[in-house]
Amino acid sequence: MWLVKTVRVKAFEPTRVKKQFMALLLENSRLMNEYLSLMQAHQTTSKQHLHLLSYERLTQALKLPAAVVQTARDKAVQIYRSHLAMKKDGPDCKLPCFRMTTPVRLDRRCFNIIETKNKLTYVAAMSVKGGRVHVPLLGQRYQYRQLRKIVAGELKLGSVELVKRGKDFYFHLAIKKETPDIDPDYSYTPVGVDLGLINLSTSVILKGGRPCNILFQRGGNALEMRKRFATFRASLSRAGKFRRIRETTGKERRCMRDINHKISKSILAQANQTEKPIIVMERLTYIRERIHRGKKLNAMLHSWAFAQLQEFIAYKAAWAGIPVMYINPKYTSQQCNKCGFTSKANRLGRSFKCGDCGYELNADLNAAINIAKAYKNFAPGYRSGALGARDSALTLQARA
Ligand SMILES: [Zn+2]
Repeated sequence: MWLVKTVRVKAFEPTRVKKQFMALLLENSRLMNEYLSLMQAHQTTSKQHLHLLSYERLTQALKLPAAVVQTARDKAVQIYRSHLAMKKDGPDCKLPCFRMTTPVRLDRRCFNIIETKNKLTYVAAMSVKGGRVHVPLLGQRYQYRQLRKIVAGELKLGSVELVKRGKDFYFHLAIKKETPDIDPDYSYTPVGVDLGLINLSTSVILKGGRPCNILFQRGGNALEMRKRFATFRASLSRAGKFRRIRETTGKERRCMRDINHKISKSILAQANQTEKPIIVMERLTYIRERIHRGKKLNAMLHSWAFAQLQEFIAYKAAWAGIPVMYINPKYTSQQCNKCGFTSKANRLGRSFKCGDCGYELNADLNAAINIAKAYKNFAPGYRSGALGARDSALTLQARA
């Protein structure tokens, strides 16, 4: 199975000439606009025809690498064809136009990452007519680690995009890795993960049936943040400011995304503390039901946040070669993990007290232990490839 993630690195203090070159590459938007109008003027969607019409003129005038011109042409043809299809339904459909800062995809024929001997170890090497342009890359420790792996051939470099944000240029590198499919047997150590509102996650390693290494990730900040956003949105809604509502929703999503990245990262760090870990989570539909039954307000956002957290965990696990399995136990929150007695009355808000054996503990922890224990019951049935990581969104653009 191939996994893909995107690493963002900054072009480090490019010289004037290099800046000009990169700005020129970004003019592919101008190039695409030109192709679009050419196709309209000549009533053609033939790449060959376009090539004859424009190739010489455009490559000469813009001094762009042939691969960049070709990619822009292909993209423009694709867009023009879908424009024609849309026009059949709505004749007044307008021809799209690109803004100047459209990211440009760099073909592998004209882009590579190489290692140099000076202090800034990695550079992006872009081929141009008559030579190469070398741009030093700037990143954090994490980005350098990925770059090192690309150069060493441990990770494959997929598509590369050049993006301009403000005055700075960035490269978005898609890195690919092949991970083996794992059919877990009984030899794994389950790490049960319970998702909730008070504790966004509660995770526990079950070693030889005994819970150890408990990790609570409290949602205090997230919960407060959401309440604040919800109140703010309600006031905006009363004032009829719907665009502002959309903006705050976007902001909230970005905050939640950061929180989810941090939580999933620490769960993976926890799992890595044991040998042969397998992460066990509840199947998402189950969590959704539970949330919908609870709070109506912000229910959408809650279930979205849970889905994302699960995806992040599954993705990071897959990347690390750790299997993930999903269970659908009905009574994870009502059952006593010691004696198995199941009753709604066992749960009293945030604490759990067994009505039969009297065992008392945190309710979320009890659920997490039950989830981890379910691994034993479910493991044989999971051999048929029901591993969650495989059917969840694996093209997710994970950021570490
Ligand atoms: Zn009990």
